[in-house]
Amino acid sequence: MPDVIQLLPDSIANQIAAGEVVQRPASAVKELLENSIDAGCTSVKLIVKDAGKTLIQVIDDGSGMSETDARMSLERHATSKIRKAEDLFTIRTMGFRGEALASIAAVSQLEMRTRLADRELGTLLVVEASEVKKQEPVACDKGTSISVKNLFFNIPARRNFLKSNPVELRHVVEEFQRLALAYPSISFSMIQGDELVYDLPAGKISQRIINLFGRAYQEQLAACREETERVRVTGYVGKPEFARKTRGEQFLFVNNRFIRSNYLNHAVMTAFEGLLPENSFPFYVLFIEIDPKHIDVNVHPTKTEIKFDDERAIYAVIRAAVRQALGTHSLAPSIDFSEDVNIISKLSQSGKPMEVYFEERFQPATIRASADWQKLFETGLPNSRLIGADEKSELFDKVPRVEPELTGGLFQLFNQYIIQPVIRGLMIIDQQAAHERILYERFLNKLQSKSGESQQSLFPQAVTFLPADYALLTEMTPEILALGFRFEPFGKNTIQILGIPAGLRPGREKELLEGLIEQFKGNQAELALPLTENLARSLASRASVKAGDKLEPEMMQSIAGELFSCTAPNYNPEGRPTFFILDLPKIQTYFNR
Ligand code: ADP
Ligand code: MG
Repeated sequence: MPDVIQLLPDSIANQIAAGEVVQRPASAVKELLENSIDAGCTSVKLIVKDAGKTLIQVIDDGSGMSETDARMSLERHATSKIRKAEDLFTIRTMGFRGEALASIAAVSQLEMRTRLADRELGTLLVVEASEVKKQEPVACDKGTSISVKNLFFNIPARRNFLKSNPVELRHVVEEFQRLALAYPSISFSMIQGDELVYDLPAGKISQRIINLFGRAYQEQLAACREETERVRVTGYVGKPEFARKTRGEQFLFVNNRFIRSNYLNHAVMTAFEGLLPENSFPFYVLFIEIDPKHIDVNVHPTKTEIKFDDERAIYAVIRAAVRQALGTHSLAPSIDFSEDVNIISKLSQSGKPMEVYFEERFQPATIRASADWQKLFETGLPNSRLIGADEKSELFDKVPRVEPELTGGLFQLFNQYIIQPVIRGLMIIDQQAAHERILYERFLNKLQSKSGESQQSLFPQAVTFLPADYALLTEMTPEILALGFRFEPFGKNTIQILGIPAGLRPGREKELLEGLIEQFKGNQAELALPLTENLARSLASRASVKAGDKLEPEMMQSIAGELFSCTAPNYNPEGRPTFFILDLPKIQTYFNR
């Protein structure tokens, strides 16, 4: 038998390595941005076309490279960041494996323009699938600009494997956000197509958070800081009342590197214990700084996992930092709001800070049913009628008390509002907003428990989608099934709808599913919501009754009843109020009393 083993040519070895480092456009975005940061830039610009599938360009004003280095940077295991094994333990740069550029160049058409500050001319390199097609001097700005065109053009299987543009773009934005958060002192911008998506001036981390996530975050943030000899934790957490129903905006950085860690996430969550409604997730951006010798970042090529030599100590510091930020000593109640029906007696023992806290954040959300309320008043406030009761009743000003015997008196106004007499006056429910809230929570539940019941369609309808929408549908099939839809493939880009979520009006199956996809895309572009939240919101908004719909008495009853078993009945998923109470004092003002 002749010998059969051969060393692979570099271009193939690089392509194989690329499988680990570059999975999708977002991975290339991450590597390029990290290189710019490592090159000491003060400003970096990201341009993507087609969610990065046809173009990713990163332009920085960093160190630039010499002609030789430009060429070297594309070789595998070529790096300027470490020289010997020990250097791995003192790493301060984002990169060090020296394989990103080589990998990207192996699976794309790459163009690099780079110039050192003290040279007149820079270098232009054109590379295709690892092969250098052109190298020549060029006049260009100081720093480096790298364009990655047609990622995976030479690996069709990979290219076909990419998800729809909205999905890929979401990944790109995620990477961009993480690096922008980690380096607020660098100005970042991002252009997608022709649109300036982000324009983030250099500044403080708090400013960066607001520029990234919106002005509304300003009042939602609580600053964290805790330091021991070994580790420092800084950053911001969202106040508990702004927690969301889905995980998403939670960022943990170790020496400015974004990492995932269930264990450390748990540390944050325990600090919130007793302050959050069930199944809600607080916002956080936390930075852990630690001597690199205590960590190992070289666990995985994407470097999002880290090993600490003493993880428990870090757990404790994070927890302390977050508790401190939340001022938990005065805020954290020892009672569980959602379970405890004796809140009032506990409240009255707990003194002022608790009451203030209660008033500020307590919403009927955490009280499940009107029955609980009655109990509450029996045990807590003797003879209390809400109107004219003692001062404590003011605490409950925002909380409606639904009187079960009166539910028969429901009627509809302008085909928009459901009017219901309640003890405090007249409750006016916005039928659409309320129904959206109810459906949203129901769908979210189904998505989380993967338990959506379905009702069979009498007349299965076929729907043909645009290819991108069909790809999106395919991508989200498990979730769409969890909502209660049933369908099967029915030819190219076509499905046949066999069932829709139980409880929804049959007969508009096609519009419902098409509408869902449409709305989902819209939300994704505007709000960057997590997948399940977006789906639940989209379907709720499509399937709800609308202002102008005439409602049967049973429907009115079901909306008015179910609204108050929601976890957050006061607002629809977009934050519009769902109801309002015209109470005696307000009525009296109309009569000059
Ligand atoms: P690593 O970042 O792990 O060193 P890369 O393949 O990402 O490996 O980059 C290889 C080398 O190319 C880097 O070590 C650096 O010297 C150089 N380089 C890459 N991008 C830039 C840039 N934007 N500016 C200056 N030098 C760069
Ligand atoms: Mg790198």
